[in-house]
Amino acid sequence: MSRLPGPGAAVVEHIGLNEAYQGVVRMADKLLVTVAPCIPPYMARDIPGLDLSPEGIADEVVRAHSAGANIVHLHVWDEQGQPTAEPAAFERTIQFIRERCDIVIEGSTGGVNELSLTERSASLQTDVEMASLNSGSANYDKGVYVNSPSDIQYWVEEMHRRCIKPDIAIFEVGMIASSMRLAEGGWIQPPFLFTFVLGQVGAMPATPKNLLFLSETVPAGSLWSAAGHCGHDLHVSSLAMQLGGHARAGFEDNPYYRPGEAATSNAQLIERLVRIAREIGREIASPAEARVLLGLQMREQERQTGAGL
Ligand code: ZN
Repeated sequence: MSRLPGPGAAVVEHIGLNEAYQGVVRMADKLLVTVAPCIPPYMARDIPGLDLSPEGIADEVVRAHSAGANIVHLHVWDEQGQPTAEPAAFERTIQFIRERCDIVIEGSTGGVNELSLTERSASLQTDVEMASLNSGSANYDKGVYVNSPSDIQYWVEEMHRRCIKPDIAIFEVGMIASSMRLAEGGWIQPPFLFTFVLGQVGAMPATPKNLLFLSETVPAGSLWSAAGHCGHDLHVSSLAMQLGGHARAGFEDNPYYRPGEAATSNAQLIERLVRIAREIGREIASPAEARVLLGLQMREQERQTGAGL
């Protein structure tokens, strides 16, 4: 029996004819799935029994990797899961993870304003392949999350020097244009990777319209993912996957499986994203395939030859 093309095929064909979407809809790309297990301390108080030691975090990451995660976004924490500028516990976490799986490791340069510029750069002193690059300041509840232009320049130069790929965090649409000035300066290279942070109180709301707008504003050929805060993680990630973007979940964004029900693990949140991805025809990248998509092989070559250092 011959198979008729379903409505999905018609939609893809239509999109394929629309040049405006050429750089945006990358449904053929295998999916990047980021797990973000480092729950902010103020949220951890509500979830009893969390093991936030390097061993505990590594266990969570390995289980999430088995569930389909190919990137882990890690904060620099001490043994108790508190932000620190001392990378010893962070390095042990990385070591425990690498002994057990080949997930791509991203360090955070974000975090609380109490840490100084260099303290927030602690992850860049370690052997991470990628790092988050906050591309501007945004209101955060009653405060301001400060990422000044000079701070951003410092981080991007450190990343460039150490061949660490930036994962550019976008809180407002103007930050995309600011990031492209870094590209003009030669500090970042394609394929660019953006993570749209939506739903943070005081910044861009987590609406489909905003996600679509951001995804159409990044340069053609860019990779992009989305992190939904304040309970918007599932909706934002599932829509991103349908738009050709990539997905993220974990206790950092939302430790609840549904309102009032704590997730049993980061892996449980990743399993749900993977189920949705498969239903809509997105294959999950292995960590090796993720490295190809992200251009991390070039980084490895540069590191080995010393270029860029
Ligand atoms: Zn983070």
